[in-house]
Amino acid sequence: MADIIQLLPDHVANQIAAGEVVQRPASVVKELLENAIDAEATLIKLIIKDSGKTLVQVIDNGKGMSTTDARLSFERHATSKIRTADDLFQLHTKGFRGEALASIAAIAHVELKTKQENDEVGNVIIIEGSTMVSQDVVVTPKGTSIAVKNLFFNIPARRNFLKSNTVELRHVMDEFHRVALAHPNISFSFYNNGSDVFNLPPGNYRQRIVNIFGNKTNEKLVPVEENTEVLKISGFVGKPEFSKKTRGEQYFFVNDRFIKSGYLNHAISSAFDGLLKNGVHPSYFLYLTVNPQTIDINIHPTKTEIKFDDEHTLYALLRSAVKHSLGQFNIAPVLDFEHDPNLDTPYSYKNIHANTPVIEVDRSFNPFKESGNSSRQHTTTFKNETSNHWDSLYVGLESKGNSFKQEFSEVHFESEESSESIFDNDTQVEQAQTTYQLHNKYIVSTIKSGMLILDQYRAHQRILYEDFLKCMTIKEGMSQQLLFPLELHFSTKDIEIIKQLKDDLEHAGFVFSNIHNEGVEIIGLPVNIPEKEVISILEYLISDVENEVPDSNFSATDLLAKSMAKSLAIKRGQSLKKDEQEHLVNSLFACKEPNVSPNNKATFITMSVDELDKKFI
Ligand code: ADP
Ligand code: MG
Repeated sequence: MADIIQLLPDHVANQIAAGEVVQRPASVVKELLENAIDAEATLIKLIIKDSGKTLVQVIDNGKGMSTTDARLSFERHATSKIRTADDLFQLHTKGFRGEALASIAAIAHVELKTKQENDEVGNVIIIEGSTMVSQDVVVTPKGTSIAVKNLFFNIPARRNFLKSNTVELRHVMDEFHRVALAHPNISFSFYNNGSDVFNLPPGNYRQRIVNIFGNKTNEKLVPVEENTEVLKISGFVGKPEFSKKTRGEQYFFVNDRFIKSGYLNHAISSAFDGLLKNGVHPSYFLYLTVNPQTIDINIHPTKTEIKFDDEHTLYALLRSAVKHSLGQFNIAPVLDFEHDPNLDTPYSYKNIHANTPVIEVDRSFNPFKESGNSSRQHTTTFKNETSNHWDSLYVGLESKGNSFKQEFSEVHFESEESSESIFDNDTQVEQAQTTYQLHNKYIVSTIKSGMLILDQYRAHQRILYEDFLKCMTIKEGMSQQLLFPLELHFSTKDIEIIKQLKDDLEHAGFVFSNIHNEGVEIIGLPVNIPEKEVISILEYLISDVENEVPDSNFSATDLLAKSMAKSLAIKRGQSLKKDEQEHLVNSLFACKEPNVSPNNKATFITMSVDELDKKFI
């Protein structure tokens, strides 16, 4: 049989490589910024149009390229950064694989202008889809400018796969932040569609973080410093009370390179043990310096994952350094690292630092607001934990079970003084037992055919979601005016998303009096949204937009109802009284779509007696 194996032509090989290196405009941003840093630039300008879909341009004042290098730079495996395989373990540059420019040129229209310091004129090269269109001399300042236009022009499938401008912009910002945070000594500017998004002067780590995330960040940062033979750590963790429900500001840098590491992230979370409520995440900006010989960066094409020789030691050092800082700055209750923090930390402590979300209920919505108010005192006893559960369970459920709610709220109101009585009441209110709460997250109930196991968080989300959706469609755009404007702080990238969603949010009833670079001022809210929950609702909304919303046809109302439900629903881990459990089951089955949560996950499962019988054969 004839031989059938062939070497792929370069342009095909480049396009294949591009599949790994260039996923979206943000990937181009990362590669170009990193090249500018490797060229020792002190001033870097990023210009994008349409979130990078039409244009990504990076202009630097670095060392530039010679005429030959300029042309060679677009060849695959062409790099000035390593010469031998051994160099891979002595890396002091961001790049080394020599494939970024080749990959980018294979799938876009690229214009490169570059000049070295001592040359009179520079070079301009135009390449489209791996084909060199022209090379000329040009008058240009010292440094390099690379403009990447019409990304994926020759791969329509990839182009169509790109998300909305909002989502792509968010990815670009993420990459920009990562690079800018790693190099505070370099000055960066960033323009999108002609308007400037960031202008970052050179400074230290703290100044850079504050310049990116806003002045209010300054007070939130707790310094972390550690200097050992194997590892040097510097940077900051966020104070526990500023932690977020969505994973946002979590940054590890190893030798000035942003990396992702679930393992090291765990080290930080465990250092925060006992300081954070369930479901919130600490923020951190940690800069690790290790001997380049002890890491392998070449395990992933985008180089965001690296392999450490001795991960366990790093884990232990990181955890203890963070714990130490939290202790030193009087944030952690104990300084003794050897003890199990779970034993040292009184349960109630968890509620001191992390603000318990408090539900405020509209008077017309919940006729028993008075007693609800009494539970809003911020205390740390078990009793109030349960009263909050109670409040949140009935948000939005005005029509059902009023009589027992009244009865229940009175019990709770009167028991305000004697702390444990709410629990004791369980035995007094003897009702036929039809439900049972399992591990504070599932409700087990008997049904005709056998039994039902319900996920309390998802079930409550469904109930609230349908309720909110109904309210919002009936009273569309209705808003309650706030007595005092609500000032909320957001990072610049979140603000960009809020700006994009502004019209939809206003449609749903939000009234913004001001949106500036540091935050928003709100003077009106959709009816039924408690003021205290607004921040977490908006956080969920922002992360939903970022993560899952496809390009077109999403309804902001629907997203908003989902975010509100997610934020207000009783969480897993909350203990529920019998009455509450029953009410939850009943309300769920009064829903239009009781089977699934707003995110299409099962709310309950059933098991028939037959199935049970089989298990006992
Ligand atoms: P790598 O960065 O892995 O070496 P690239 O494809 O990103 O590979 O770049 C190829 C080469 O082009 C680099 O090694 C460098 O010599 C040169 N180069 C790229 N961008 C710049 C720049 N902004 N300034 C100077 N030289 C550059
Ligand atoms: Mg590179």
